[in-house]
Amino acid sequence: MNNARRCVACGSLFHPLSHVPNQRFCSAPNCQRERRRRWQRQHIRADADYRENQHRAQASWRARHPDYWRQYRSTHPAYRERNSVLQRKRNALRRTGVVANMDASHIARPLTSGYYVLRRASEVKIAKMNAYIVHITVLSPPGGPSVPDCKEMM
Ligand SMILES: [Zn+2]
Repeated sequence: MNNARRCVACGSLFHPLSHVPNQRFCSAPNCQRERRRRWQRQHIRADADYRENQHRAQASWRARHPDYWRQYRSTHPAYRERNSVLQRKRNALRRTGVVANMDASHIARPLTSGYYVLRRASEVKIAKMNAYIVHITVLSPPGGPSVPDCKEMM
C-alpha cells in the first residue's frame, strides 16, 4: 500500500484511482454521495459570495460616483427627454384616476365615437349579466382632451 491514503469521509485507507490523482474520498457509495454533497454546498456558498461581492462592488461604485446619473442625464438629452415624456404620461394617467395596473397602451389610445357594450365592472365574472349598448360621441377636436358623451340605447 505505497500510495494508500485515508478517505476524508469514512477514514478508511484506499488507493486513489490513477486518473483521479487528488482523490480524497474512497469509492464507497456513501463517501461518493458525501463528496457530491460537499461539492454542491461549496458551489452554493461560492455563488452567494460572488453575488454578495457584486452587490458590494456596485454599492461602493455608486458611493464613489454620486453624480454619475445627474451627469449622465445632463450629457444625454435624448435620455432625459424620453424620461420626462414617460413621466408626463404617468402623471396624466394618475390625474384620470385610472387603476394603476391597467394596460397603459390601451388607455393612451384616444376613445373614438361609436357603439360600445357597457357592463358593470363588478359583474364581469358573472355569466348572466346586464349589458347595455351605448353610443359614445367624441366631441372634442383630435388632439384635444376627449369629452365622451354617453347616450344609453337599451
Ligand atoms: Zn470513504
